[in-house]
Amino acid sequence: MADSKKVNKKDMGKLLNQWSQEFTVFVPSKDESVSKMAKWDGKDTSFLDWYRNTVTPPKANFLPATEKMFSFRQDTEGYQLELPSQVDKQLVFGIRPCDAKAMTILDMTFEDTYEDPYYLPRRKKAILIGLGCTNPCDSCFCTSLGISPAESNDVDLMLTDIGDEFLIEEITDKGKGLAAHTTGLEEATEADIAKAKDAKEKAYSKVTRKINTEGIEARLLASFENEDYWEEVATKCISCGICTFLCPTCYCFDISDEQANKQGARFRSWDSCAFPIYTKMPMENPREEKWRRVRQKVCHKYEFYPMSFGIIACTGCGRCIRQCPVNWDITLTLDKLPARV
Ligand code: SF4
Ligand code: SF4
Repeated sequence: MADSKKVNKKDMGKLLNQWSQEFTVFVPSKDESVSKMAKWDGKDTSFLDWYRNTVTPPKANFLPATEKMFSFRQDTEGYQLELPSQVDKQLVFGIRPCDAKAMTILDMTFEDTYEDPYYLPRRKKAILIGLGCTNPCDSCFCTSLGISPAESNDVDLMLTDIGDEFLIEEITDKGKGLAAHTTGLEEATEADIAKAKDAKEKAYSKVTRKINTEGIEARLLASFENEDYWEEVATKCISCGICTFLCPTCYCFDISDEQANKQGARFRSWDSCAFPIYTKMPMENPREEKWRRVRQKVCHKYEFYPMSFGIIACTGCGRCIRQCPVNWDITLTLDKLPARV
């Protein structure tokens, strides 16, 4: 068991205020129509009452929906480039274990053959404070992916609701360092730790939606050419891309230049393999039929990513189920997967 401290819930504002001296603090916010991790206003902690999970995943703090890569200006010497200024040190408070795992999965992508100079500096400077999920949604199936809704090794500090207080587990050295110079924390007692264990077990048992991941790579591989299956599975999808934009592990982006009067900027923006025009710029989309694009989305997460990185790139966060306008459901798709291998 990690070293543990605790804080009274009524002191959360003071705690976040302390941390905001060193970090830009982000908390769950529903000020806008779509909830997300937004900059804390310095006083409101009401999210502790309503928060289940954000609609926009925390990946947006590290891989924004649109970001400027650089500005450029053409003069007599050629193109002059200006890179973005230094990145904020973010403290993301309240991240759920499924989304923290998603950040670990995204790190694998952005640290792979090419080290992404935009995503990685943000990640390296950031601190993630997890908050155990005690009220999972019906669409959540994290436990089938080896994730416990109230436990995580993918955060720096992990908080569990134990009544009037939060237990704070120090998961990483970074988290331990932060806790060491935070005032107002008390040492947790054996009774506090027992209460947290109970809360975690209760949370785990509340996730009732399950999928069978046994042999999933082989089952998908065996079904890859089964056009009838994929046609049926893809029937109601309208290729809107919402499930991929809001998926915490999806990372595809497109790059575009905006230019006028010999100056402009280069941007990158989220893209989606669900779109018929995906990859049209460099070449033709090799997946013109919708069923091929739906197959790609499922197989990328459950077959291709595990082949490359040894981990399924789905955390069971359930966003793609909750937010799909036509109720397409990845768990039903996987359930219908032919069992033959
Ligand atoms: S959100 Fe639903 S309709 Fe839109 S691309 Fe995804 S599965 Fe298809
Ligand atoms: S595929 Fe769906 S359930 Fe899995 S991580 Fe992405 S949004 Fe969450």
